[in-house]
Amino acid sequence: MDTEPGVRGVAVITGGSRGIGAATAIAAANAGWSVLLTYRKDERAGDEIVQTILMAGGRASSIRADMAHEDDITAIFEAADKLGTVTAFVANAGIAASQSRVDELTPSRIAELLAVNVAGPLLASGHAVRRMSTLHGGAGGGIVLVSSVASRLGAAGEYVDYAASKGAIDTLGVGLAREVAAEGIRVNVVRPGVIDTDIHGRNGRPDRAKELAHTIPMHRTGHAAEVAAAIIWLLSDEASYCTGSILDIAGGR
Ligand code: NAP
Repeated sequence: MDTEPGVRGVAVITGGSRGIGAATAIAAANAGWSVLLTYRKDERAGDEIVQTILMAGGRASSIRADMAHEDDITAIFEAADKLGTVTAFVANAGIAASQSRVDELTPSRIAELLAVNVAGPLLASGHAVRRMSTLHGGAGGGIVLVSSVASRLGAAGEYVDYAASKGAIDTLGVGLAREVAAEGIRVNVVRPGVIDTDIHGRNGRPDRAKELAHTIPMHRTGHAAEVAAAIIWLLSDEASYCTGSILDIAGGR
């Protein structure tokens, strides 16, 4: 551990069992947060990240939660309260369905995507604010929302629904940041480009990252740890005058 474990309070990281969320959970523990990470299905993957953190001398635990379920979101924050004071929240969990045109989208796909990618982060942000805001007796904190460069590119022919859901996240970040700026909470957004994680395989195109590498100005895909580093910086005191920002981590894409 780079810093004494738990000294920064509790960091809640949704979707912390894999990819960007897992890298963020490890980096947050290294930076001195007690980590509560969530997973949706894969308990073993969540356990592995918790074990990695514990073996390195950090503090971490995991909880199963579906961001589409209001009760699960409440349970995340109740579990976090038992660990200490919540000072950081990373809304990372997100889904993108298989490649599809808008004229092929089904109502059930749209409903699930908006529930997980938009309603979940909105509800969870409310829980975080109720704990952190000086208006509610809290001591402040930081929130980082994980969007995507798809929000400005639009993802035509791939998944415009996903891109639109991330556009909502960008707007949530700007609006919430202004709403709570005087209450000790900073809110920022990161927009990853093409990052080499399992998400592409889950959407039925496992080689997507490799295939797109040559189209990226830096001629390579990004690593989860590179996104995590930006998230941790935004949560840290080094970013003390940074709120309502949208930071692209996309190799120039
Ligand atoms: P990933 O490897 O697929 O990991 C997704 C994580 O979210 C897992 O921990 C998963 O848990 C969890 N999760 C999935 N559905 C959930 C649900 N309904 N409720 C709660 N948790 C759920 O994804 P990633 O690539 O790291 O992506 C993380 C975030 O970055 C997402 O918001 C994504 O949109 C964004 N992003 C990714 C890229 C990229 O190229 N990878 C680019 C731009 C933005 P289980 O494994 O248990 O299901």
